Amino acid sequence: MKSTASFATRIVSWYDNHGRKTLPWQQDKTPYRVWVSEIMLQQTQVATVIPYYLKFMARFPDVLALANAPDDEVLHHWTGLGYYARARNLHKAAKIIRDDYQGLFPTHFEQVLALPGIGRSTAGAVLSLSLGQHHPILDGNVKRVLARHGAIAGWPGQKTVEEQLWQLTDAFTPQQDIQKYNQAMMDIGASICTRSKPNCAACPVAIDCKAQLIGRQTDFPGKKPKKTIPTKAAWMLVMMQDNQVFLAKRPPAGIWGGLWCFPEFATQAALETHLEEQGFDAQQLEWLTGFRHTFSHFHLDIQPMMLNLDKALGNKQSVGAVMEQNQSLWYNISHPSKVGLAAATERVLANLGSLVQSAVSKE
Ligand code: SF4
Repeated sequence: MKSTASFATRIVSWYDNHGRKTLPWQQDKTPYRVWVSEIMLQQTQVATVIPYYLKFMARFPDVLALANAPDDEVLHHWTGLGYYARARNLHKAAKIIRDDYQGLFPTHFEQVLALPGIGRSTAGAVLSLSLGQHHPILDGNVKRVLARHGAIAGWPGQKTVEEQLWQLTDAFTPQQDIQKYNQAMMDIGASICTRSKPNCAACPVAIDCKAQLIGRQTDFPGKKPKKTIPTKAAWMLVMMQDNQVFLAKRPPAGIWGGLWCFPEFATQAALETHLEEQGFDAQQLEWLTGFRHTFSHFHLDIQPMMLNLDKALGNKQSVGAVMEQNQSLWYNISHPSKVGLAAATERVLANLGSLVQSAVSKE
């Protein structure tokens, strides 16, 4: 049976009755505010994003505030959200808007698309949600709804499958009510047509959804072909003194670019040699709990090794002196500096925090 109302009409009327209308980025809508929300929401759920978004907006209320802020402060406001390339691109794009567009967010699709970190779907979302321009969108949530509704086989990461989905989103996107329609499609994907347990009874397009009709909802969209990724190892030197740890800033390119991390070595021997060259005794190293961090293209098995300078010979000035200026800092665990931390740093600090607390409570 086919519904007489068009796909878009049903989606828009679902939005009128059930759509979210009170999210922070839905108030006082500007391209800048919607852009920041779209970037934060790319890999992160709404409930997690809200407090980050509010703090980000309080500190960087407009493009110029963001463009003129130091890198470290932008990354600091991103700490905990992960996928830091998003924050770096946001900052880079804000500087381009300041320098090339007099600080005014561009309103032409091609100009928005040319900014770093903005793809075809995000450009469409920013301009449609904030300014009501007619652009189809195809983020992960919309892909899932459309792939299921049309029973489109294959993994959307494949060009041909993605192209099919673009054709569908283009065909369904209405001329009227674009803001409601695009917002509703994202909401339905996030809250009804979920990855593992779609709630088809609540879905406005269930009646002609092919995957639902054949009872194969979770077969669509097709899964990414599995590939095995290599494993690498890293040894991290955690020097600690007076509740402070020594961190180094990573180079701008590469993993955790521009973020603060413990000095990293490829082998235990390299770490020990480095310490001995600084006049420390490698015998005083303590093993902390190791863990695995997985990037998209490899696993990194991390072994943190702690040198407690309160006990060890030497002093922290001698350690600091060998690092480039502005590229190292003593990070106070109780009074953290406003810098962006690599995920591995956060993990080690969380473990250290409990060590420090248990040491204090034992005293
Ligand atoms: S009917 Fe079910 S599977 Fe189909 S689009 Fe709606 S929620 Fe997704």
